[in-house]
Amino acid sequence: MTEHLPFRAETAGEGTEAAPESPHAITAEATLDAVGGRRDGLTSEDAARRLAAHGANCLPEPPRRSAVLRFLLQFDNVLIYVLIGAAAVTAGLQHWVDTGVILAVVIVNAIIGFVQEGRAEQAMDAIRGMLAPRSAVLRDGRRVSVDAADLVPGDMVLVEAGDRVPADLRLVEARGLRAEEAILTGESVPVDKGTEPVAATVPLGDRTPMLFSGTLIATGTGRGVVVKTGADTQIGRISGMLAEVETLTTPLVRQMDIFARWLTVFILLVAGCLLAYGYFVGHLPFAELFMAVVGLSVAAIPEGLPAVLTITLAVGVQAMARRNAIVRRLPAIETLGSVSVICSDKTGTLTRNEMMAATLAAAEHVYSVGGNGYAPEGAVRWREADAQPDEHAVLMEFARAAGLCNDAMLHAHDAGWRVEGDPMEGALMALAGKITREGAEPFGQWTRTDAIPFDAAHRYMAVLHHDHEGHACIQVKGAPEAVLAMCTDQRAAHGGTEPLDADHWHRMVDDLAAEGQRVIAVAVRAVAQDHTVLNTADLDGHLTLIGLIGLIDPPRPEAIEAVAECHAAGIRVKMITGDHAATARAIAERIGLKNHDTVLTGADLEAMDDAALAEAAVETDIFARTSPAHKLRLVTALQARGLTVAMTGDGVNDAPALKRADAGIAMGLKGSEAAKEAAELVLADDNFASIAAAVREGRTVYDNIKKVISWTLPTNAGEAMTIVIALFAGLALPITAVQILWVNLITAVTLGIALAFEPSEPGTMRRPPRPREEPLLTGALVWHIVLVSTLFLVAVFGIFFYAVDRGYPLALAQTLAMNMLVVLEIFHLFFIRNIHGTSLSWAAAKGTRIVWACIVAVTAAQFAVTYFPPLQAVFGTEPVPLVDGVLIVAIGVLFFALIETEKQMRLAFRRSGQATPS
Ligand code: ADP
Ligand code: MG
Repeated sequence: MTEHLPFRAETAGEGTEAAPESPHAITAEATLDAVGGRRDGLTSEDAARRLAAHGANCLPEPPRRSAVLRFLLQFDNVLIYVLIGAAAVTAGLQHWVDTGVILAVVIVNAIIGFVQEGRAEQAMDAIRGMLAPRSAVLRDGRRVSVDAADLVPGDMVLVEAGDRVPADLRLVEARGLRAEEAILTGESVPVDKGTEPVAATVPLGDRTPMLFSGTLIATGTGRGVVVKTGADTQIGRISGMLAEVETLTTPLVRQMDIFARWLTVFILLVAGCLLAYGYFVGHLPFAELFMAVVGLSVAAIPEGLPAVLTITLAVGVQAMARRNAIVRRLPAIETLGSVSVICSDKTGTLTRNEMMAATLAAAEHVYSVGGNGYAPEGAVRWREADAQPDEHAVLMEFARAAGLCNDAMLHAHDAGWRVEGDPMEGALMALAGKITREGAEPFGQWTRTDAIPFDAAHRYMAVLHHDHEGHACIQVKGAPEAVLAMCTDQRAAHGGTEPLDADHWHRMVDDLAAEGQRVIAVAVRAVAQDHTVLNTADLDGHLTLIGLIGLIDPPRPEAIEAVAECHAAGIRVKMITGDHAATARAIAERIGLKNHDTVLTGADLEAMDDAALAEAAVETDIFARTSPAHKLRLVTALQARGLTVAMTGDGVNDAPALKRADAGIAMGLKGSEAAKEAAELVLADDNFASIAAAVREGRTVYDNIKKVISWTLPTNAGEAMTIVIALFAGLALPITAVQILWVNLITAVTLGIALAFEPSEPGTMRRPPRPREEPLLTGALVWHIVLVSTLFLVAVFGIFFYAVDRGYPLALAQTLAMNMLVVLEIFHLFFIRNIHGTSLSWAAAKGTRIVWACIVAVTAAQFAVTYFPPLQAVFGTEPVPLVDGVLIVAIGVLFFALIETEKQMRLAFRRSGQATPS
């Protein structure tokens, strides 16, 4: 170590190390020298110094729309154009007050939109931050996981299948390594990678000793030294490749957006006709008529709707993130609400993934293992007594296989021991420590010469090790079926070997698995010292079985609750695992899956054709010994039955199934980058309970979108009809154009926002899932629009005629009508908050802080408009007498009673419909 210090001191003074121009053309050693890196990684201090010199390993942010531009874009809206045109016309007519009001309303509306959009963008930014990639790297000689942004030239990075390469790397080690470099070269077939230098002039796609930032590791493992980071990487140089900022939208919201646009065109056409009709046929004065038509456009066009829907989505995204579900693709928010089947991994999702070796089964004895968590200390016992390795020679063999055939590392922390790597391997490392009593890093004398990494398709891992005394041996661990199939012998009780008793072992596996233990088998083979390359041919039929290791992995208590919640919500939960059938069944029973008697294995699935599979997939809840390819078939089969499928996954091979699923869910902690990128949703805590929470939020967002729409459209329709009828009947407008402008662009937008923040309704997870193809504009919604807009019409005209009848001046009658409209909107809001249940409960009446904040704001504004003289002048209002104010509120209550009763009638009908068996 000391001989490197002078070099470091030197470079430390200069601050940077020169990266070689063509690291692919020189050896790994030469590259290491050039960037000042070492095979066992940088020290933390060196890394920190380099980070300061080179900057973070991030691509420059895609250019952002500036705040000014964002504000100006708020005016890019047909209705706003119409209003600006109207301002110009009123100015031409020298109606300065109208001009002022129109412009003020336009600006206030733009400010509201600007602020809301800012919130939505912030929500998305926060989410993006939560998905920042991490990278395994050697620091201070230890494997640690760091933020990819903290990588510096000289760092030694470890990659494996499924990883996204975090920086440009020069490989120093590669095993079966292939990378998919399509984003750089357009070549979609993965290319083989190695460590041998190639000619300096070869094109990017042929630089085999290099891994380029942003490409995906398809297979194998490797390690490489960072040569370029951030904008200096190949991908950083292609500026056009920068990721685009995703816009906050979903199919539903886009659909509403398109609908709103066509509605706008339609309304403008109608308004134009009305203007022509009124002027040429009705001979109305142009100025008055013009304002009425502008009022109509404002009333009818749901201009605030797209913005409020966007906020609804942003609120949903944030709510999910708080529950550890990070949305990668926004349409998932909608899909999640309609999920009818969740296919979940077992290990780590339904169980804690805090493993501990509990049982060792050798040919002769069965040992039990004590200890706590991942601490590499604890006793191995046989028949109530501590078993020592010197008496039980086989224990040392277990320890060697467990400790060497292992990529995990244990670190002691204040709060106990933690695993860096796979938890099961962590548990095996702890086991090795318990047996050898050498702590967290036993077997330092052995060096790994080659390895066959674990793959969910072959279900074992093998390593080849050499020591300094000329010994070489292969260690294998994996699923018992896989390992037993490769063994001919077993370790005999007192050393030596004897023929394999496969039946005995299979019985043993079943016994351990029935207790819910995850069982793996370990085997060994001694080889000659010149044996340095490991092939599958070295294993098959040459291995000696050491025994079985049973690991416990308790179910997550919160997963048990979440499964019950899903069942209540009409969602079937299925477990798809690579684990043994008996283990899967034992866990399924504890988790509370519905059908925990039948288990289908991967082999069973293969024997079925698609039709039989679709049949079986619906009924069965446990699928064991599956490989990722089976997941894809299962998703397809379930979808063929019209189900909306959520599927979890973590490995690189899970990507196709995740893409195919309606809602692909990747694991944030143990998931590969490839799985995360294929998924719509990433679970920050890998926990099944977070899926249930996401489904609940998905349903809530869908409800809220529906609420916003069901609240906005009747309001618009009611107002528009009021004006149209007044125009055609030749009546004075019950509400002036300027007042309509006020009600619509300020009051309605403020109230509508409250719905975006609505919490889940109480019964959200006791309803069956929404059918996949359910249209947004259902008959019920259309009926609601007709009913409510008619009631609006009746109430507004009613109060207007009442006032006229009482001999009130026109301005007062109009003030009453406008206030009537706002009061109706508020009562309607309370009604809409509970479309699936009753509004007549204390909780419903209590509302939320946001609802009340919006109502208080709107009420205060309404009082100001009605009673504050300067505003009276602007809006042409007059103070409302107390009795009439009370009357307005009373009509509001009556309106509420009417629509609530109508809803209760419909709900009662629907409930009785559900009660009858179909
Ligand atoms: P799960 O659905 O429980 O995550 P996996 O596909 O990860 O299942 O693993 C399937 C089986 O492969 C396990 O039951 C175990 O026997 C074996 N296995 C898992 N991980 C490893 C590993 N790192 N090394 C060797 N064998 C493993
Ligand atoms: Mg697994």
